[in-house]
Amino acid sequence: MAKAAVVLSPELWQIGHGEDHPLKPERLKRVYELLTAYDAFNGQNSRLVAPRPASRRELLLFHSEEYVDAVEALSRGDQTYVPSRYNFGPGDNPVFQGMYELAALKVGVALTATELVISGEVDAAFSPAGGMHHAAADHASGFCIFNDVAVIIHFLLAQGFRVAYVDIDVHHGDGVQNAFYDTDRVLTVSVHESGFFIFPGTGSTSETGQGIGQGYSVNLPLAPYTDDEVYVWAFEQVVPPVLRWFAPDIVVSQLGVDTHFLDPLGHLQLTTQGYAQAVSMICQQAPRWIALGGGGYEASVMPRAWTLAYGIMSGREFADEIPAAYAKKYGQLTLRDRTMPRIEASTKDIARRHAAKAIAELRERIPALRQ
Ligand SMILES: [Zn+2]
Repeated sequence: MAKAAVVLSPELWQIGHGEDHPLKPERLKRVYELLTAYDAFNGQNSRLVAPRPASRRELLLFHSEEYVDAVEALSRGDQTYVPSRYNFGPGDNPVFQGMYELAALKVGVALTATELVISGEVDAAFSPAGGMHHAAADHASGFCIFNDVAVIIHFLLAQGFRVAYVDIDVHHGDGVQNAFYDTDRVLTVSVHESGFFIFPGTGSTSETGQGIGQGYSVNLPLAPYTDDEVYVWAFEQVVPPVLRWFAPDIVVSQLGVDTHFLDPLGHLQLTTQGYAQAVSMICQQAPRWIALGGGGYEASVMPRAWTLAYGIMSGREFADEIPAAYAKKYGQLTLRDRTMPRIEASTKDIARRHAAKAIAELRERIPALRQ
């Protein structure tokens, strides 16, 4: 059985981006409650670990000094910095008190997970609070303030590890791709809803890296209404082969579950079963694994999906029937979806053709897929 840990603590759900913002802190509390209901942290092979904070020096592994200063000042109400210069303002990225501490703690969680994995204490570590894949070095983007993913990948590179990044959020992992676009030391792979239909608008098959990084950025964009069958088929054609080719020491993954058919932000139509199949394929290719959360804005979905994901990481099959106390409190009866999305045959056909076209383009453009 694999050794695994979840890094999570209540400070992560004390404050949030504001009442009407989709990234609700209670999401994490429910993940914690469901994992606890399953007695997921019951032995030597599976632990719950409290995070340490990230230092300013660690944030600077990816972020600019000016941006870190600006977030810190804005977070305590200091008006010296103009929020809009760093893409803060009403909407996706509001300024809120304590945002520096919260965003830095999320990076600290990812660093704690990283240290658990590289020390050999665990084979896989999961930070449900992480996966802030849109944040850029010098500005906030798409709910993301500090990019925990880019920071830990820099941290791993500094120690000589070969890192592959796999992003299965419904939104393209643009911030992480951009951070490592011109290097062959990191492979980035993102499977997402096409940027023609959804934020951030990037992630086409033609984005393949530059300079020596050419061929080390891989994007699989999918059409709205892509369901489990088409998704799993397309994923299998692309993700395991490029990971096998790259042969990483460590896989870092962003496991956003806003691909689910009930999610209010995306238009893909996955169930928790389809999602779990993708997570299993990542697991099979990961010698060591740092898993981060990500999007997922439907509270009835995310705790179930991430519990299934943690079961895969820790080599444990959780019973499908949700423990009674949690089931009663939230009205959720099973980990796996019983109600399926209804997709018309013609819509499914469009999604299948869209995926097949993207795969054909990738086979032309990505050397790893040509063998
Ligand atoms: Zn997302």
